[in-house]
Amino acid sequence: MPWCEPCSRYFAPSAVSAQGRCPVCERTIEMPIRATSDAPSLRELQRLSGEKAPWHFKLLMLTLVLYLGWRIIAPFVD
Ligand SMILES: [Zn+2]
Repeated sequence: MPWCEPCSRYFAPSAVSAQGRCPVCERTIEMPIRATSDAPSLRELQRLSGEKAPWHFKLLMLTLVLYLGWRIIAPFVD
């Protein structure tokens, strides 16, 4: 939320002028850090770091799928 110190109030980002000025007192407003489209996505960060899911995570996921699969079919077996 953009905050204007002299006015002591928050403004909707759309209420602030294109130059980042307060609509009431015309002073420059402190703009919070926004997640912009040029910020790297999680997938991109993962690719940049070169890290893959560790083998034990994959084993855990496989075990989970097998277990849940069994829980689904178990009532119908026997
Ligand atoms: Zn203001």
